[in-house]
Amino acid sequence: MDLRPYIRDIPDFPKPGILFKDITPLLADGKALRWTIDHLGERYRGSVDIVLGIESRGFLFGAALAYALGVGIAIVRKPGKLPSHKLAAHYALEYGSDTLEIHGDAFGEKARVLLVDDLLATGGTAGAAIALIEQLGAELLECAFIIELEFLHGRERIAPHKAYSIIKY
Ligand code: AMP
Repeated sequence: MDLRPYIRDIPDFPKPGILFKDITPLLADGKALRWTIDHLGERYRGSVDIVLGIESRGFLFGAALAYALGVGIAIVRKPGKLPSHKLAAHYALEYGSDTLEIHGDAFGEKARVLLVDDLLATGGTAGAAIALIEQLGAELLECAFIIELEFLHGRERIAPHKAYSIIKY
């Protein structure tokens, strides 16, 4: 299925010069959403112990995929949201830096983790989530995205870890 008709381009959001890829039309379409989750489900069935969803659009796809795979979901959140003992990873943005957090008991050391987010841009977000997976001593199976912005080279930033994306721009 071609998902491109379900991705809406919003120029200059959230700031001038950014072409925001809005996935809400995909989420709102039952067939497109089901195809997306089924497609990822076929790719990962039987090989994953837990899905790791990145706040916040990664939660939407991650939770549906975890259900389809019959596994649980762990979450990576922005600072100050998680209530229990947590670990943090800092990463550089175009201007400044940001932080992501995970619960210290999100999964065990031997877990095979599938990282899920809506979009791979520079790879900073995924890279920080990978650092958290490594702090917990678990194994990253692959990073799965709906969209990849290839011109930002995020794939190279997270190498040698593997990335899979459904639509590339
Ligand atoms: P990055 O850390 O640069 O790979 O950015 C990835 C994160 O920022 C993902 O969680 C995306 O949801 C969001 N993001 C970055 N660029 C865009 C964009 N052009 N359109 C929509 N979301 C974006």
